[in-house]
Amino acid sequence: MSRTPSLRPLYNYPGWVIQEIKLNTDLVMVRLRRDLRLKIYCPNCLRVAGENRRVIQSAKDLALGPVNLVQILYEAIQGYCNGCHQYFTLLPPGIEPKAKATKRLMHYVCKLCRFMATDKVPIFLPISISTSRRWDKKILAEQLPSPDLDNLRVILIDEKSIGPHHNYVTVVINGDNGDVLHLAEGKKKESLEAFFLKLTLEQIANIKAVGMYRAGAYKAVVKEYAPEAAIVFDKFHLIANYNEAIDKVRRAEWHKADEENKKFIKGQRYNLFKNPENLKPEQDRSLKELCEFNEPLFQSYLLKDALKGLWTYVYPKSASKFLDKWISWATETDLAPLVSFANGLNRDRKEVLSFIRHRITSAKLEAFNATISRIVKRACGYKDLEYLFLKIRQERCPPVLQR
Ligand SMILES: [Zn+2]
Repeated sequence: MSRTPSLRPLYNYPGWVIQEIKLNTDLVMVRLRRDLRLKIYCPNCLRVAGENRRVIQSAKDLALGPVNLVQILYEAIQGYCNGCHQYFTLLPPGIEPKAKATKRLMHYVCKLCRFMATDKVPIFLPISISTSRRWDKKILAEQLPSPDLDNLRVILIDEKSIGPHHNYVTVVINGDNGDVLHLAEGKKKESLEAFFLKLTLEQIANIKAVGMYRAGAYKAVVKEYAPEAAIVFDKFHLIANYNEAIDKVRRAEWHKADEENKKFIKGQRYNLFKNPENLKPEQDRSLKELCEFNEPLFQSYLLKDALKGLWTYVYPKSASKFLDKWISWATETDLAPLVSFANGLNRDRKEVLSFIRHRITSAKLEAFNATISRIVKRACGYKDLEYLFLKIRQERCPPVLQR
């Protein structure tokens, strides 16, 4: 046993001495006992305390060379303090008795989980999938700084569908730096309220603008909790809404058309949604043909291009005039889906036009969407939203954070 002194520095636990290191080809066992020369102190009042009993416990540790399983057997001391009248337990530092593992092994698992799916960890280490998830979550919760809620200037709110375990989650992101601030089940009022309830009045007062899409309960919540903040309806969501309107026109035209004209409408759905510069030459040609034959679709298509011009304005007043014009053009088409879309724009004009002043883009939101999709896909969904939130936050921290 004394021939392995070189391994001793690897198992240096102050207060405990190495009694024995057993080396086998498939198992390394390190036996620790309490250093009897040391007194026991109460962790509360630091008075000298008495020993009640000692128990042998075990903890898994990092692999050693080709040996994957390293067990540390140690004496846990149960003490009793006459001052506090309380029992306490003394353990070698760096051991997590509940996890039955050393902290450094848990950190290592957390590091692996950053770059591989948790269900792959058991290929490398003698632990189960659920254990690797549990440890990963625990270390992340301890290590990651909580979201910075001070000096929020712009926030973005969105809903996101995240796979089989949850229908939707509500997300709040810092619009300036992309930091994920909040993740909650559902897309209801309460899902967002929970975020504002975390903020102080001072933190709320800092928020100048809130970007969101217009459906759902979010607007009412922002008005209630942050009445001073400007609400900005997201440009891309609005264009997507307009695309839905075009699609309704397309379907109506299809039903009206005779066989000859159906030929032109067929297969045009996505061409109508695309930006003209993204159309391939043959798509461009067939869309042009369609527009020649079908005036309603031609009008809808032209109006989409015009609508995009709204967000290029620099002055709110000019943008407002343009919006009026656009609304009247859309109304004049007499096409029900376009008229209804135009009415909606008119109703929400304040939130639509506030883009001009605040110029909120959803670029940070899109980056976030890419991140969350990647994480959820790798784990085949997340049951535990708290864990998912940590995993998303981890992506924003450099890997060196984890030692
Ligand atoms: Zn005490």
